[in-house]
Amino acid sequence: CGIVGYTGFQDSYNIVINGLRRLEYRGYDSAGIVVEDEQKKLHTAKTKGKVEDLVKISGDLKGISHTGMGHTRWATHGVPSDNNSHPHSSNNQKIALVHNGIIENYDTIKTMLLGKGYTFKSETDTEVLVNLIEYFMANDSSLDFPTAVRYSLNEVYGAYAITVMHEDYPGVLVVGRLGSPLAIGLGDGEFFIASDASPFVEFTKEAVYLEEGHMATISLENGVDIRNIKDNVKITPAIQELKL
Ligand code: GLU
Repeated sequence: CGIVGYTGFQDSYNIVINGLRRLEYRGYDSAGIVVEDEQKKLHTAKTKGKVEDLVKISGDLKGISHTGMGHTRWATHGVPSDNNSHPHSSNNQKIALVHNGIIENYDTIKTMLLGKGYTFKSETDTEVLVNLIEYFMANDSSLDFPTAVRYSLNEVYGAYAITVMHEDYPGVLVVGRLGSPLAIGLGDGEFFIASDASPFVEFTKEAVYLEEGHMATISLENGVDIRNIKDNVKITPAIQELKL
C-alpha cells in the first residue's frame, strides 16, 4: 500500500501515477487518484486492480492540475472493490482523503456520524475520518481545514498515514502520521509526499521524514508547517539529504 501527493508546477497526474508505480512493490489491491483543476474542483478516479487499470479509466484527469494525490490500497476493512478504493470523499464532496493503516475505533465514530445524518458509500474504516473532518468544520465555521484534520486525528485510535485535500483550500495538502511512514520531498517550487522517497528522488534530494504523531500542512504559499497532532506545537523540520 502507498500514498503519493504533489503540489507544484508539473502535471500532478503524471507525478502521482508514476509515484504509485514506484510504490507497487509494497503490495496492493486497488488504486486511486484525485486532482484539483484550475477551477479548484476535485476530480477522483479509483478502481480495484492495478495502477495500469487506474490509468485506463483516468485519462481525463491528465494535464488539468498542479495539485493531487494518489493511493494504493491493501484492504483491511471492506473487500477490494471500486467503492472501497481510496480516495474517499466527504458527504459535501469538498474533502478527499487517502489513508494507509487502520482506524481501530471507526465503528464508534461511524455510529456518531450516522446519528447526525451522514451517509457512507464504502465499508472502509477510512471513510469515517473524511466525514469527521467535514463534521468538525460544519459545526464550527471558525475552524480552518488543518485544525479540523488535527481535531479529527485526536479522536482516532490506530495506525495511519493520511493525506487530505479540501476544495476551499486549493494547493494545500494536509498530511499526518502515526505508525505508517510518510516522507515530504522539498523541491524548487514544488513539494512531494510519499510513503517512501522513491517517487520523488528524481526531482529532489531534500526530504523531511514526518515523525510519529506529527502532521504537516503543505502549500507553495506557506511551505511546510509541521505540528504535533496532540497539542499543535510547531516542529522545526529536520531536513535530510537523500543519498539514493
Ligand atoms: N484500512 C484502510 C482500508 O481498508 C486502508 C488500507 C491500506 O492501508 O491501504 O481501506
